[in-house]
Amino acid sequence: MPKPIIAIVGRPNVGKSMLFNKIIGKRLSIVEDTPGVTRDRIYGESDWCGRAFTLVDTGGIEPRTDSQILEFMRDQAQTAIETATVIVFLTDIRTGLTASDQEVAAMLLRSGKPIVLAVNKMDSTGAPDPDFYEFYNLGLGDPIAVSAVHGHGTGDLLDAC
Ligand code: GDP
Ligand code: MG
Repeated sequence: MPKPIIAIVGRPNVGKSMLFNKIIGKRLSIVEDTPGVTRDRIYGESDWCGRAFTLVDTGGIEPRTDSQILEFMRDQAQTAIETATVIVFLTDIRTGLTASDQEVAAMLLRSGKPIVLAVNKMDSTGAPDPDFYEFYNLGLGDPIAVSAVHGHGTGDLLDAC
């Protein structure tokens, strides 16, 4: 069986690069406060429970934009989606569910690829933030709570992938 490709997609600044780095274990990807810093696709190799996979970090999808850089990033993400075996759709508890998330979800569903929904920046353990439940509205099944900073939930995420 060819090595599966897991692509991390979502809006800029939700923590895709930080999650990528947490899973790959090397600081290969660039983490920045400025949305749009990862412009190209970045690949890394890892394995989970004996299964090797390729992980792809993307620059992020801003559904509506006039910026050429953000348009370029969206095209790059689209290419990553097309080549992926499974897509990790990363969202952010700090912003909650946004209209752009809804649009990205629609774009991902059109791809016909399996989608694993994750909500990042869930840094504290215990009872989840009530805003977490909003993400069920995307209709993508149970969201997985993760913290790219701490690594919480990344095992569950890879299990789901
Ligand atoms: P990307 O644009 O989706 O690749 O997002 P980045 O990985 O560059 O992260 C954007 C910002 O979110 C940075 O300031 C990160 O430090 C922050 N961030 C990423 N993951 C987490 C997390 O799990 N918890 C918290 N509190 N901040 C995070
Ligand atoms: Mg990034």
